[in-house]
Amino acid sequence: NIVTRFAPSPTGYLHIGGARTALFNWLLAKHGGGKMLLRIEDTDRARSTQEAVDALIDGLTWLELDWDGDPVSQFSRLDRHKEVVGKLLETGAAYPCYATAAELTQMREAQTAQGLPPRYDGRWRDRDPAEAPQGIDPAIRLKVPLDGNTVVTDQVQGTVTFPNKDLDDFVIMRSDGTPTYMLAVVVDDHDMGVTHVVRGDDHLTNSAKQTLLYQALGWDIPVMAHIPLIHGPDGAKLSKRHGALGADAYRAMGYLPAAMRNYLARLGWSHGDEEVMSTEDMIRWFGLEAVGKSPSRFDVKKLENLNGLYMRSTADTELLKHWKVYLAHAEGGQPVLDWLSANKAIALAALPGLKERAKTLVELTESASYLWRQRPLDLDDKASKLLDDEGRAILGAVHGVLESVPAWEADALEEAVKAHAAERDLKLGKVAQPLRAALTGRGTSPGIYDVLIALGREESLARIKDQAA
Ligand code: GLU
Repeated sequence: NIVTRFAPSPTGYLHIGGARTALFNWLLAKHGGGKMLLRIEDTDRARSTQEAVDALIDGLTWLELDWDGDPVSQFSRLDRHKEVVGKLLETGAAYPCYATAAELTQMREAQTAQGLPPRYDGRWRDRDPAEAPQGIDPAIRLKVPLDGNTVVTDQVQGTVTFPNKDLDDFVIMRSDGTPTYMLAVVVDDHDMGVTHVVRGDDHLTNSAKQTLLYQALGWDIPVMAHIPLIHGPDGAKLSKRHGALGADAYRAMGYLPAAMRNYLARLGWSHGDEEVMSTEDMIRWFGLEAVGKSPSRFDVKKLENLNGLYMRSTADTELLKHWKVYLAHAEGGQPVLDWLSANKAIALAALPGLKERAKTLVELTESASYLWRQRPLDLDDKASKLLDDEGRAILGAVHGVLESVPAWEADALEEAVKAHAAERDLKLGKVAQPLRAALTGRGTSPGIYDVLIALGREESLARIKDQAA
């Protein structure tokens, strides 16, 4: 059975690349009816923070990417990592290195001066431990074969060959007794029963070193898939300006989690020409063989359009739920949230008209704001212009017309307004525009009959009266 894992280091937020890695692992696990595990790689004690752990969990939760079991703290597995280092020492696959920091610096400088890539020169590889100097704690290094190749069979990158001479005897435990990432990741993946390692291709070289560790330990190597990084629209490394932000920033920009999942899945994976895929479809179709080799480009416009599509096709009650989540995290969102909780029926009545026009929950909130703004409404520039003397006079007459409509229903209201315009020989816009301005305080809004219904008779008539001459 498939077991994948998402293994972030808790040093920041859940950035967009990490979110995509998590999604691919999640899709692969769900597709195979397997599990996705979450491992927090918190061994760098100076850089790992609880806030960052919380931010990762918050981001995954918002994206609705769930994991199996409790998150595993890598740091909590320290004793096990040390035990495995002990085993490698016992079998002679690893050895203590007593080179001091000063010595190593000198070695690197000499190599660089000669135009060579800096590498550990193996000076303690074959030395008799009896020669160990007093008072120096050794680092532990893996004895990497001096010649031959290490071959990584990658589901995305294909067969990648690394000459062993380029992989110097890397450190698996520092002289202070802390295991390195390289060691910990192998031990944890093995112990957690991980069958598939899916991660960014910046880890490809690490996978060669990890392969050597698996071999030294006599363990099965998991299936590897190194996915190309996400680039900006210009093809360069993704910058903050072009979208290298945390999941929380996307929530704040008013995107829906389902739209994010759809968009992120298409960054590097495809299923024919399908652009719009439900999460169920993606689970059904996902496979590593369709992950591309070249970096994908992040395009905010595409995400926005896709989000608009999801806004329109999401059921109102579901959309209301996401709207509330957005507001709970948005600056100044609390009063709106309170209003929504107290006026759920009005919000649900207004949503069909609102969601047609809004690409994001930010836009939705703005265009819905007529609902909770207090009388007398503040007017934007366009609305003020519409409410000139002529506009106000028209409103006065329309007030009387609407007041006498027996049933406050969209069809009846529309009929009455149209009849009134025809009678006065006015273009419909001449009547509708001041009406919109008075009802919403804005020059643009959802359809005015939707607005009249959402506000109800009393509030609508009062707002019209406020502005009428
Ligand atoms: N903790 C590593 C990172 O955040 C990922 C390690 C892995 O997936 O093997 O980049």
